[in-house]
Amino acid sequence: MSDQHVRRADLRIDVDAIRHNVGVLAGRARESGAATMVVVKSDGYGHGAAVVARAALESGAERLGVAAVEEALQLREAGITAPILCWLFVESDRFGPAIDADVDLSASSQATLARIVDAAAERGKTARVHLKIDTGLCRSGCPADLWPELVEAAAKAEAAGRIRVEAVWSHLACADEPGHPSIDRQAERFARAYEQARAVGLEPIRHLANSAATLTRPDLHFELVRPGIASYGLDPVPQAGAHDLIPAMTFRSSVSLVKRVAAGESVSYGHTWTAERDTTLALVPVGYADGVPRSLSGRMDVWLAGRRRPVVGRVCMDQLVVDTGGDVVDEGAEVILFGTGDQGEPTAAEWADELGTIHYEIVTGMYRPRVTRTA
Ligand code: PLP
Repeated sequence: MSDQHVRRADLRIDVDAIRHNVGVLAGRARESGAATMVVVKSDGYGHGAAVVARAALESGAERLGVAAVEEALQLREAGITAPILCWLFVESDRFGPAIDADVDLSASSQATLARIVDAAAERGKTARVHLKIDTGLCRSGCPADLWPELVEAAAKAEAAGRIRVEAVWSHLACADEPGHPSIDRQAERFARAYEQARAVGLEPIRHLANSAATLTRPDLHFELVRPGIASYGLDPVPQAGAHDLIPAMTFRSSVSLVKRVAAGESVSYGHTWTAERDTTLALVPVGYADGVPRSLSGRMDVWLAGRRRPVVGRVCMDQLVVDTGGDVVDEGAEVILFGTGDQGEPTAAEWADELGTIHYEIVTGMYRPRVTRTA
């Protein structure tokens, strides 16, 4: 990595790692006879949706999933022809362009189904629909008491040629806590909803498993799994053993200035850190505007010149300061803020632990105006 010129702040996306991870996940799915839909919403969890989509489709995934219609259309504009499901709509969304672009649409209510049917009828087309049942996450999805009416309306629209019901699907609340009783409860409700769909003549496939369930619950793979985070090499269930995943995002910068300071000198705004002995400081031109949380001030290391070194004093908007402990480092030397962890460098998961959040939030928030992203 150090052979490349590192600009101010760079997210390096290891596409081979994504290929490897999707290969692992699709391999697990295949063992249960299931296909794989890789979730590339939110710009591929910050990694670049089109790059991830192509890598996923080359590595065993058959489908892609996104939240918003625009995300699906952007993938089509990037030349991706594989089936794409999108599932989160607002009133202003127009389903016509999605149907024209052959995008699968989720319906959680009769109102949404009716909008899809109208848009398909206007175009004289058949829309592919995934009916979503709320099995207990209490987010999107049709409540169980309204489900019989939804599947009946869907069966009528299918008979009229306006839609094809591709799938019945749902999402788990606690799959990242293997053994949590809600998982089986949701699975039971899902089975009931599927039977109700079959009873009105529908013949959908089923999908329920996110990354955690793909890795830990083969009995819930059904015909299709829907992993996101594990495709990026971040393990949602590290407590369930090693899963052979490689983190795909490395956040790098480089040293822009090196200076000696005397014992007793204090560093950065607020003078929160004081050198106990004469030392060398390395200035790194990334700060909280570039995704380094200010709340990690004094609580983070970087990888520089072959070892971890502490960030001292406050993280500023555009820069942070590393104590090299007297080691001389070169201006221009590579600084890894987080990476795979293979050399001992910090990881996105470590940042998340320190911040009391999840690695999902770290990686999806990293791509910003001054940050370059290279794949
Ligand atoms: N399915 C849906 C509906 C989602 O919203 C997500 C992500 O939040 C996923 C699947 C993928 O989940 P994960 O990233 O935990 O694998």
